[in-house]
Amino acid sequence: MDLKLIKQLILEDKLVRFYQSKAWRSLRINVLERDNYECQECKRQGRVSPAQNVHHIKEVKKHPELALVEDNCEGICIKCHNKEHERLEKYIRKKKPKFISEERW
Ligand SMILES: [Zn+2]
Ligand SMILES: [Zn+2]
Repeated sequence: MDLKLIKQLILEDKLVRFYQSKAWRSLRINVLERDNYECQECKRQGRVSPAQNVHHIKEVKKHPELALVEDNCEGICIKCHNKEHERLEKYIRKKKPKFISEERW
């Protein structure tokens, strides 16, 4: 999975393929292990919740070059993940993005 392909998938609105890729799946596991399977957002607020998802701190659609950078990813629980994307939504104001379910891959 190289940058050119990721950009292509963004253009075609097929990012789900990125989330199904081996490269993402293995990175995702690395991130969850690094974060001890704990939601980093909850942690910042002094709570402990299990992380089910991995979130891109800088969105893939805006920063495709960071799609596979471990430092741009963090473990997050579904609740915080939804919140995080709702917050991002307010800036983008487009049709509802699909990454929430995609990032669960
Ligand atoms: Zn959380
Ligand atoms: Zn996310």
